[in-house]
Amino acid sequence: MNLILLGPPGAGKGTQAKKLVDSYGIPQISTGDMLREAVKNQTQLGMEAKKYMDSGQLVPDEVVIGLVRERLTKPDTEKGFMLDGFPRTVPQAEELDKVLAGLKKDLNHVISIEVANEELMGRLTGRRTCKACGSGYHVIFDPPKTEGKCDKCGGELYQRDDDNEATVSNRLKVYDSQTKPLIDYYQGKSLLRPIDGVGAIDDIFGRIKTVLS
Ligand code: ADP
Ligand code: ADP
Ligand code: ZN
Repeated sequence: MNLILLGPPGAGKGTQAKKLVDSYGIPQISTGDMLREAVKNQTQLGMEAKKYMDSGQLVPDEVVIGLVRERLTKPDTEKGFMLDGFPRTVPQAEELDKVLAGLKKDLNHVISIEVANEELMGRLTGRRTCKACGSGYHVIFDPPKTEGKCDKCGGELYQRDDDNEATVSNRLKVYDSQTKPLIDYYQGKSLLRPIDGVGAIDDIFGRIKTVLS
């Protein structure tokens, strides 16, 4: 099963992706996570990308396409994969189509998680992430059992540099202008599966499973 998780920043893509990994055993390919890893390791690519990420802009298409192209040749994607946060522009989507055609793979569903802009700011500024395992939490909507500590691995929770009000407000604008057109792009290919992204996390997961079954 080859999936794309589409939706604005804070829609719950990462949260639902983790649940899909557990249930379906296919890998989550998050370009945001890959870029943050490169930033952490202070690679050339990471240092270049950080400038864009900190201001809430998109990293240039060629950079993320290169990451995804390489990732999709890894053997763990044979049973399927889930792209989280990619593609984010029409040129990225067009390039993905070419990469997949070259690998003789097809997309099955584009899960489009819908949440109104008003709700996203609070979700993003309250987001906390585990340094060790990447699990996501929210200080109010999905708090860990012990403040500041990951339920799954005991790791330390941190707030992403780009989850502050000024950067979030840029990211939401960038989403509207550059990523939203993908809704029409995938609708046109009959791949779009809209999911109401408001409500309990497990209820939303149930809606996604219904679409996939
Ligand atoms: P994305 O990957 O789409 O940017 P995340 O999965 O990281 O979004 O979710 C953003 C924040 O919102 C996280 O803090 C997460 O815990 C929280 N969250 C996820 N789903 C919901 C939900 N259904 N209701 C309330 N908060 C949610
Ligand atoms: P969120 O879903 O919360 O917006 P991500 O972790 O997916 O966050 O992305 C964080 C940042 O990484 C983005 O604001 C952007 O700068 C960069 N990024 C991630 N994926 C892409 C992509 N496909 N194209 C361009 N930039 C990306
Ligand atoms: Zn953890």
